[in-house]
Amino acid sequence: METSGASVAATSGRKKQSVADHNVSTLNRLYDAYIFDLDGTIYLGDGLLPGAKRLISELRNRHIPVRFISNNPTKDPVQYAEKLTKLGLPTQVDEVVNSVVATTRWLLENYPTAVVFPIGEAPLIRALENAHIRTSSQADEIDIVIASYDRTFTYEKLQIAFDAIWFHKRARLIATNPDRYCPMVGGRGEPDAASIIAAIEACTSTKCEVVVGKPSSIMLHMTLEGLHVDVKNCAMVGDRLATDIQMARNTGLVSVLVLTGETKVEDLKRLSAQEQPGFVLERIDQVLPSDIWEELGWSKES
Ligand SMILES: [Mg+2]
Repeated sequence: METSGASVAATSGRKKQSVADHNVSTLNRLYDAYIFDLDGTIYLGDGLLPGAKRLISELRNRHIPVRFISNNPTKDPVQYAEKLTKLGLPTQVDEVVNSVVATTRWLLENYPTAVVFPIGEAPLIRALENAHIRTSSQADEIDIVIASYDRTFTYEKLQIAFDAIWFHKRARLIATNPDRYCPMVGGRGEPDAASIIAAIEACTSTKCEVVVGKPSSIMLHMTLEGLHVDVKNCAMVGDRLATDIQMARNTGLVSVLVLTGETKVEDLKRLSAQEQPGFVLERIDQVLPSDIWEELGWSKES
């Protein structure tokens, strides 16, 4: 069955090819900058996904800006740049933005003197300390509770958040990212920040006021800072509809979904025409148009 999104693709002149029972479209031009999600888009676990290395190398050869963006707050940009470099994609720290950087920047810009209680892991806590944001676990002095992806989450932390928000009626709730789970190799996953947000909302009957990570535009604007590009000429490439594709839709970027991570073809069939990603790719190197594949002598096997 052809989806409405793919029909739009056909009428707007995109080349498309049939894959299984869905239509996969390939991009037909280069953009001024590319933003790539990491997990499920560039790599899965510790392995690069097919085509990632040659795509990023080719974009760099052409001096096209590349940025990497991740909602995962259990690492910081230094760790991401090291990981990408080790995997064969030499990357500078300032080419990576994740929800740790974005949350810290957001707090500095909006609540620089707030006392915060981070329910998160070492990279988040370290970034807050480095930014001289005061942290505390004293419920009666906490202004902001930060819900994050925290594999050391305990009942005690929930109690502190509950006391600060519900009993003392002073703290507000924000979150680093809205992801339900973090995908792992073999189809497994780990509960992510959404589960921590839900636990706090459930007991306090309050609502999380700000979620900094994708699909919020907060992180996108930080990512494009200094590039002097028009968002309409930038492409956001990712594997998740609710974060990567939604952020592109919220901010006017061209949205490109890769089917190498969370989203399956069946998921696209449930979407309305408006909800369809701009482009759907089987593999990441299809970000480059087919004339460049020909010029470079690429094939899916090469
Ligand atoms: Mg992803």
